[in-house]
Amino acid sequence: MSEDKIIDGKAFAAGLRGRVAEKVAALKAAKGVTPGLAVVLVGEDPASQVYVRNKAKQTVECGMESFEHRLSPETSQEELLALVETLNADARVHGILVQLPLPKQIDANAVINAITPAKDVDGFHVVNAGRLMTGAGKPMVPCTPLGCLMLLKDRLGDLSGKNAVVVGRSNIVGKPMAQLLLDANATVTIAHSRTADLPGVCRQADILVAAVGRPEMVKGDWVKPGATVIDVGINRIETPEGKGKLVGDVAFEEAVQVAGAITPVPGGVGPMTIACLLANCATAAYRAAGLEDPEL
Ligand code: NDP
Repeated sequence: MSEDKIIDGKAFAAGLRGRVAEKVAALKAAKGVTPGLAVVLVGEDPASQVYVRNKAKQTVECGMESFEHRLSPETSQEELLALVETLNADARVHGILVQLPLPKQIDANAVINAITPAKDVDGFHVVNAGRLMTGAGKPMVPCTPLGCLMLLKDRLGDLSGKNAVVVGRSNIVGKPMAQLLLDANATVTIAHSRTADLPGVCRQADILVAAVGRPEMVKGDWVKPGATVIDVGINRIETPEGKGKLVGDVAFEEAVQVAGAITPVPGGVGPMTIACLLANCATAAYRAAGLEDPEL
């Protein structure tokens, strides 16, 4: 296996964070504005706690302000909506992220859609989804698919005319990924749990994005020789030795033999998600200051 088949998301994300830090410093110098990111965590989900800690750390490392709000698992929807309103009105806060999943008593859609679209750095608000879908106005683009697109453009350059297959149709990954690929002039198929002959559909792909949540579902013989494979999946499995291990939605050892390029798990898409969150927050602060979007 040649090393240059591996798409190093960790290295790319580090470079992106460096560019964000430069843009943050430039904004401070030009306008005296420090971008601020507010992260809200409701409850004690261990994975969410790790994400929130990492987000706060990397926010500060990029020169931005981090505002953390940790609320009890019993928090009511009204209390959370009141906090979102406060953050919407706070001029120091340019980006608001409410960590998902939320406890059962809270309607996640109601909370997401209460965030001012300009501060919706996750890009989940219906206004941002609508802008992405229609091309009307500048959206905030969901971080994970944005990161995948950056990796694809970095590896392949122009995506025009490529056959892209996205497996998964969630609002967070699959649908916005497909839209971004369409905007980049790829010919896009969205596959899902009811797709007939999924292996055959995947074998048509020059670009194959797997965002499913099923460990190693995409096999080596589903991959077209030379295709670029982006594995969004993060699945924790037990090894025969009884240890925990992270794997993607793609059977990496098989797929890497066939693919032209592939993201590993971990170290592929994962690090791009937080880096793109920081990029979105910087972009939100530039827009709030009346400036053009920074080139990242
Ligand atoms: P969802 O569960 O919301 O969506 C999964 C999608 O996969 C659905 O559209 C579902 O189809 C489809 N699917 C499920 N089973 C099959 C199957 N057997 N064959 C074909 N399609 C199937 O997941 P997310 O989009 O939120 O996340 C997907 C994966 O990406 C997860 O592993 C998650 O952990 C990871 N992830 C990683 C991130 C990162 O930073 N790297 C960020 C976000 C997610 P249907 O609609 O028909 O049910």
